[in-house]
Amino acid sequence: IVPCYNEEEVIKVFYKETKKVLNNISTYTFRFIFIDDGSGDRTLEYIKDLAKEDSEVKYLSFSRNFGKEAGMYAGLKHSTADYAVIMDADLQHPPELLPKMIEEIRNGHDCCAARRVKRRGNEPFRNLFSKAYYKISNKLTNVELVQGAVDYRIMTRQMVEAVIELSEVQRFSKGIFEWVGFDTKWISYKDVDRTIGKTKWSFFGLFKYGIGGITAFSVVPLQIVTVMGFLISLFAFFYIAITLVRTFIYGIEVPGYVTTLSAVLFLGGIIELSIGIL
Ligand code: UDP
Ligand code: MG
Repeated sequence: IVPCYNEEEVIKVFYKETKKVLNNISTYTFRFIFIDDGSGDRTLEYIKDLAKEDSEVKYLSFSRNFGKEAGMYAGLKHSTADYAVIMDADLQHPPELLPKMIEEIRNGHDCCAARRVKRRGNEPFRNLFSKAYYKISNKLTNVELVQGAVDYRIMTRQMVEAVIELSEVQRFSKGIFEWVGFDTKWISYKDVDRTIGKTKWSFFGLFKYGIGGITAFSVVPLQIVTVMGFLISLFAFFYIAITLVRTFIYGIEVPGYVTTLSAVLFLGGIIELSIGIL
């Protein structure tokens, strides 16, 4: 299952390189499912070329760009094989790992997934952010994300069925793969630079995706809101009580502002508390 978005430069190279590896595995037959994620270049055209040459090349084409998550989901939905492999089209997921992955499945694991051991490139800021993200996410959510995990994995039919049963629109597959359980074997590989084409992810895009990953698997952010609302209301309550007493003793200092402040604080707290509960 290969999600592709504007990969005209690499798609045929990907097919050739992967095919080379697969040709050496005689115990299974393989089918490619390419998902053209609304590409604006000739990706779809090239996929169609491949499908003409090879009857085991199938493809889906989206009406617009829906993102890689949608591509992976559609691919899994349309797969019928005993095992499904998800991989990127840009050869950053080395096809040479496939025999090892298949071997692990044969050893009885439900899934074999790849993690890259060195973060790509010399982008200290991103690396730091990525490390921190995994730490925070693992603290806040009940799914344990593996540092360096990529969306390159082989799964049994059983696991695929479990994954596609979760049909949410805002998908965060890294979390879903963990959430469904199953016995996953992790194998490490040296990070490969993208030599053809360029990444589709901006820092901000990744950031939004990451926040989605946490909120999809954790109620902790909501609990924080609830507790904060409670604390603010409590503070407001005491503030009002103390001010009332002071007013009775010393009289009004500046007319109006205490009432306004109290109302804003108290209601603000109540509203936040309510949002948390909702
Ligand atoms: N991709 C996709 N839809 C998108 C963006 C990316 O299907 O909207 C595909 C892309 O063609 C590639 C894979 O997802 O096969 C990973 O994308 P990319 O290499 O840009 O991500 P990175 O490797 O930088 O994380
Ligand atoms: Mg890539």
